[in-house]
Amino acid sequence: MTDVPDGYIRTSGPREHDSIVNGDGLRAVVWTQGCPNHCKGCQNPETWDYSIGQLEKIEDICKELATYPGQAGLTFCGGEPFVQPKACKQIADFVRKELGWNVWSFSGFTYEVIKEYGGEPWEFLKSLDAIIDGPFMLDKFDLSLRFRGSKNQRLIKLKYGTGEILSIE
Ligand code: SF4
Repeated sequence: MTDVPDGYIRTSGPREHDSIVNGDGLRAVVWTQGCPNHCKGCQNPETWDYSIGQLEKIEDICKELATYPGQAGLTFCGGEPFVQPKACKQIADFVRKELGWNVWSFSGFTYEVIKEYGGEPWEFLKSLDAIIDGPFMLDKFDLSLRFRGSKNQRLIKLKYGTGEILSIE
């Protein structure tokens, strides 16, 4: 886990908006910094290091997200969002309650691993509508998959607030 103070999140790049490749509909994207998974063939190896990127105030990111009109939701990309679960959940809760957006996240961890770990990562997962889970596997690379890079990864729709699985693609 990263040593990020309360109220802050370590990010790997500026926010995006109007993205159509990170989930259903037009979406804002928060890029997090730091990843322990080190998947062979990762497209963003510059996001692995926990000591670089920007330390940003969650409050400032929320204010910025609120200026993006017409978004269906927010997606967390990495890096590994689940190593900063508390910060990500704060942002997820803000966009859901204040902006009416749905929330998705990518993770190199599987749903089952996050559930078994419990604690803050599980609380973050429960605040999501969908997770795209599992590490990128170069030998399972498939360009035809929606929002995913390799066949082992799953698009799991979740029941908000409980983490219950609604569907798996
Ligand atoms: S989990 Fe994502 S960011 Fe981390 S190494 Fe794997 S593909 Fe790269």
